[in-house]
Amino acid sequence: MDYDTYGSNAVELAIELANADRHDPSWAAEFVRTHDEWFTTPQPAGFSAADAAAAGETADLVRAVAVAATQDEVLARLNELLSRARPQPYATDHDGDLHLHYAAPGTRAIEQLTTTVAMGLATVVAQHGWERLGICSAENCDAVYVDTSRNASRRYCSNTCASRSTVAAYRARRKV
Ligand SMILES: [Zn+2]
Ligand SMILES: [Zn+2]
Repeated sequence: MDYDTYGSNAVELAIELANADRHDPSWAAEFVRTHDEWFTTPQPAGFSAADAAAAGETADLVRAVAVAATQDEVLARLNELLSRARPQPYATDHDGDLHLHYAAPGTRAIEQLTTTVAMGLATVVAQHGWERLGICSAENCDAVYVDTSRNASRRYCSNTCASRSTVAAYRARRKV
């Protein structure tokens, strides 16, 4: 991923949230813990059931943007997501590189999560087009991806899915 071109790696947080496994009730608190770069006050202990439900809705909205078939659909879903955000951008070099964070430091983890995901996704869509988000074409995979390739040619969520599909297509051809 070319962060200089894309301006924000917050979109990666959006993608990973949309692809998170939500079977365990503590999934949202765990997600915040494993993505602590974006959270100034990680509060997994204080992550309520309502917060987890809100995180699930945010994940669903990211996925809804990825499956949308038209620009109008993307706009409606993106704006629903943005209406939940409380952006207060600030520049930081906490990891050595100057970059932007989108949520006010010190706010609750769920607010930082929603805001960062919404702003990261909206930035990429506004700068690079609504078709940059997609769903993996591999069989038995419905992971969301963001296409950062120069010619917008991506079809799979990962190299694993891409090579799995190439092998499957090769075997299918050999059968005929
Ligand atoms: Zn940071
Ligand atoms: Zn995949």
